[in-house]
Amino acid sequence: MLAPSIHVIAERLPIARGVLRVLRDDKTGIREFRRAMVLAGVLLAIESSKELSWKPVTVTTPLGVETIELELEREPLLIGVLGASLHMLEGFQHVYPNAPIALIAAKRRESSRGVEVDVYYERLPNRWDGPVIVIDPMLATGSTVGLSISKAKQIGSSKIIVASVIASIHGLRYIVENHQDVAVYTLAVDPELNNRYFIVPGLGDAGDRVLGVTA
Ligand code: URA
Repeated sequence: MLAPSIHVIAERLPIARGVLRVLRDDKTGIREFRRAMVLAGVLLAIESSKELSWKPVTVTTPLGVETIELELEREPLLIGVLGASLHMLEGFQHVYPNAPIALIAAKRRESSRGVEVDVYYERLPNRWDGPVIVIDPMLATGSTVGLSISKAKQIGSSKIIVASVIASIHGLRYIVENHQDVAVYTLAVDPELNNRYFIVPGLGDAGDRVLGVTA
C-alpha cells in the first residue's frame, strides 16, 4: 500500500502516460527522449507545486481592476542528481525560473551487498532552510535519492519533495521507511528491480539515454 505522501501522476493524467510512452520506448531517439524528460520535469513541477507555500497578492489588470492571485512565498532549491536529471531540471526551470540550483553527482556501484552510491561531486549551499525538490528520474533502490534527502536535511531544509519519472516499489518503500517526512511525486511506479538494480519495465539507463553516451 502506498503512503499518502506518494503521488503517482500517470494514474490520473493521460499526458503523463504519453510522456512515459516516449521515454519507455527503446526506439525513441535522443532528441525525443530529451524533450520528454523536459516535459516530465514540467509536469512534476506543476503537480508538486501544491507542496509549496503560496501567498495572496493583489494585482491590477489592464482593465484597471484589482484581483487577488498567488505568488510563491519562497523559491524551492532544486537539487539535480547528475547527469540523468539534466533535462528534468530544465523542465523545472521553466516553472521556477528564479529557483536556485544545487547539484549532486553520484555513480552507482554494484557490489555483493547490493548497490552502493559514490558521490563524486556536490555543489550545495552551506545552509538552506527553505523547501527543496530533489530531482532524479529513476528512484530504483532509493539509495541515491535517500542520500540526497539526507544532504538536504543536513543543510536545514524545512520541506523536502522528491520528483522522479519512474519509482520502483522497492525504492518507495526505502524512502517511506527512512524519510517519512518527504513527499514523493512520480509519473509511474514499476513493480520490479532486475539483478542489476534496474527498474523493470522501466526505461533503461536514464543517464545513458539522456546524455547519449554509455558511461
Ligand atoms: N537508474 C537508471 O538509469 N535506470 C534504472 O532502471 C535504475 C537506475
